[in-house]
Amino acid sequence: MESESRDPRVRSETLYWIDCSACNAADGLRAPRFRSEEDLWHALLTADRGWIRLDDGRVLCPIHRRVAECDSNGHAVTLWAAHPLDANLAWRCCTRCGSLFEQRVVPDPAMPPTSSAS
Ligand SMILES: [Zn+2]
Ligand SMILES: [Zn+2]
Repeated sequence: MESESRDPRVRSETLYWIDCSACNAADGLRAPRFRSEEDLWHALLTADRGWIRLDDGRVLCPIHRRVAECDSNGHAVTLWAAHPLDANLAWRCCTRCGSLFEQRVVPDPAMPPTSSAS
């Protein structure tokens, strides 16, 4: 391949990559580069890189693949877990896409339960 530079020390090469249909790598996730289109598809779709090509033609990065799975199948929300910094709080979220983050105040076991009859 002919170099565009007039400086004989400067080399160039062609690299292949594909941007995620959802984010176009706009969120700073740089799509991996490959030396051939065959290498690109083989690595993205068969190696464990987490990309997916959907039937509608969209190609999704690992982040948006998980979002698409939640859109299709619902979120995988965890059970309420103890908050690491505040014993009075519990939290949960979707373990697949990371959304649906919620936290709530845990009732204090030292306090008597509130009653609507009082
Ligand atoms: Zn994406
Ligand atoms: Zn989710």
